[in-house]
Amino acid sequence: MNYKLISGILGAFAVGFRNIFKRRMTLRYPEERLDIESGYTFDAKSNTGSAGFKGRHILYTDKCTGCSLCAIACENIADCIDMVQVEGNWPINPKNIMPQIDYGRCVFCGFCVDACPFDCLFMTPEYELSATDKRKLVHTPFQLAVFPEKKGNVKLISDDGVAYHD
Ligand code: SF4
Ligand code: SF4
Repeated sequence: MNYKLISGILGAFAVGFRNIFKRRMTLRYPEERLDIESGYTFDAKSNTGSAGFKGRHILYTDKCTGCSLCAIACENIADCIDMVQVEGNWPINPKNIMPQIDYGRCVFCGFCVDACPFDCLFMTPEYELSATDKRKLVHTPFQLAVFPEKKGNVKLISDDGVAYHD
């Protein structure tokens, strides 16, 4: 055995021992899910974003004007927002069009949220978006309007620059 190999093995053991007494940073998913408090928002008036999680979007359909600025912002990033026709009577949305998002392509950058001048498109802590059929990754405006269920049961604790949980 050469010296490099031995020092590599001993180094790995040393790292393991050092971490034995530290608190856990990994989760036993899916029994354990991180309880993330808030999603990413952007205040168009003050031009500032919040420090929230960038998960599935939430669309406030009653405030959407159908201006398409979110879709335009996404065009050169992932081009995953389509403005689609919606049923119903939407007084401030004369064209009856709202964003539909394809999560098979979305990169969760949040630029569409920044681009919305009417504070009606934000992001939520929902991160469980996988599907076995890619058509199910396309979320219609009415799907985006539903608040995600709160599933988190483990609180994240941040201490001196280190994140862990109980
Ligand atoms: S978060 Fe997704 S939908 Fe929004 S601009 Fe980025 S890629 Fe497009
Ligand atoms: S979500 Fe906002 S930016 Fe997108 S169409 Fe509606 S009002 Fe315009």
